[in-house]
Amino acid sequence: MSLIACHECDLIHRVGPVPEGSAARCSRCGALLYQHKRNSLERTLALTVAGLILFVVANAFPFLGFKLQAQVREIILITGVQELYHQGMWILATVVLLTTIIMPAAQMMGLLYVLVPLRLNRIPWKLKEVFRFIQSLRPWAMMEVFMLGILVSIAKLSKMATIVPGIAVFAFMALIFILAASLAVLDPHAVWERIKIQESSRDIPVARANLIGCHTCHLLCRLPSQGGHGLTCPRCGTHLHRRKPNSIARTWALILAAAIFYVPANVLPITIVTSLGKKQADTIISGAMYFISSGMWPIALVIFVASVFVPLIKLLTLSYLSFSVQRKSRWRPVDRTKLYRMTEVVGRWSMMDVYVVTILVALVKLGALATIEAGPAAVYFCALVIITMFAAMSFDPRLIWDQTEDRNE
Ligand SMILES: [Zn+2]
Ligand SMILES: [Zn+2]
Repeated sequence: MSLIACHECDLIHRVGPVPEGSAARCSRCGALLYQHKRNSLERTLALTVAGLILFVVANAFPFLGFKLQAQVREIILITGVQELYHQGMWILATVVLLTTIIMPAAQMMGLLYVLVPLRLNRIPWKLKEVFRFIQSLRPWAMMEVFMLGILVSIAKLSKMATIVPGIAVFAFMALIFILAASLAVLDPHAVWERIKIQESSRDIPVARANLIGCHTCHLLCRLPSQGGHGLTCPRCGTHLHRRKPNSIARTWALILAAAIFYVPANVLPITIVTSLGKKQADTIISGAMYFISSGMWPIALVIFVASVFVPLIKLLTLSYLSFSVQRKSRWRPVDRTKLYRMTEVVGRWSMMDVYVVTILVALVKLGALATIEAGPAAVYFCALVIITMFAAMSFDPRLIWDQTEDRNE
């Protein structure tokens, strides 16, 4: 039996031993509290090793080939980043490099660093820091969104030229599944449990007001009788806050900033195509229109949903949630928590447009015959996606529950 505070509504639960393969969910808001996975660390380790091999193949071998008339161009995964950098879009180049290459690599190397010693019953140096870092990288590794970007780019270029997928594309696709599987079988508790802490800080019943749940490792900690500022979790070292500091003010500021970027992201050109001396600038909307006019409406729909609809819905939802907390609303807290969970999951898919631009500028570089450059909207759009992700992270869903009465049991 151990006590655990729900990270989304702060209800305290007594969780007994969870049988293998099943999960404990919060009885009030439905958030996943704890999942017991069989041989979690061994399986994660095996998948991570497989992932690293695929990662090397995906980066070293030809990614896509582009054939137009007699000209052929072959690119590797990092070519898009290099092209963006040469066009002066170094912010965009950095974001793409981080989200598609560096973060997934760091995740896998970190897992290897943590899991190999644990397998040998040793505690690796700086385990807390490294494992916390791996957990925090999770929303920023966006290989599956990049894959969607590849598919849209191929569709976009299919009428203009022949696209030949290289061996690296297949390795990349397999890597997405392997990495997703390795994170799915990973049971963070199995790692945190290896860190020994004094039992006295564990679960002595004290008043609810003096208990605080750690956001990273979910350990329920006791607040000292006075103060509590600058307190860190005795197990993983995360700073403890009863609620995220200045959650609502920070969320509003980020929503506002994102709303400002939303306009140039949709109005300014995102790609500039030069073909046989003619220049043509495309916005996100006109790009989607092209697909409708050429009969590829499912792709138009994907672009429209990912780039126009999702950011807008996300901003509106976060505004509503912040507003409802400020109004001290008691209306349907379970549904509002679900709404929050949805905004967290869906937002990253908007990054697709940035990746489409990356692939287009990398592939279509045939001098006077056809060249594509990134337009200014790409930078605004990238900023928009990142800011809305931060906005969702700064909102504290436990605030929704602070107004409901059954706070203690
Ligand atoms: Zn809950
Ligand atoms: Zn902790």
